[in-house]
Amino acid sequence: MIEFTRLPDIGTVVILDDQEFELQRIVPHQKADGSMTELLLWESLCATCGQPYETKTTVRTSGISRRCALHSKPGKPVKGKRGRKVKIQVILP
Ligand SMILES: [Zn+2]
Repeated sequence: MIEFTRLPDIGTVVILDDQEFELQRIVPHQKADGSMTELLLWESLCATCGQPYETKTTVRTSGISRRCALHSKPGKPVKGKRGRKVKIQVILP
């Protein structure tokens, strides 16, 4: 679980194991109920092909996509067993 108590600043880096995600933008997003929220747009390098890609999360999220759209395998861990604890580190700009 990744949870920010407030919106993180642009340039915040989240590291899951050894994969880095850098916050690029905050994107306004309208929820299904019509209320507004913000999505965090992260840039990272795909765990499979190493190409840069962008992925969005909510401020409180159970995980960040570890691969580009081409290689995304939802629910499949990058390495190790499913349910294995991923080391999360947050570096503020
Ligand atoms: Zn890829």
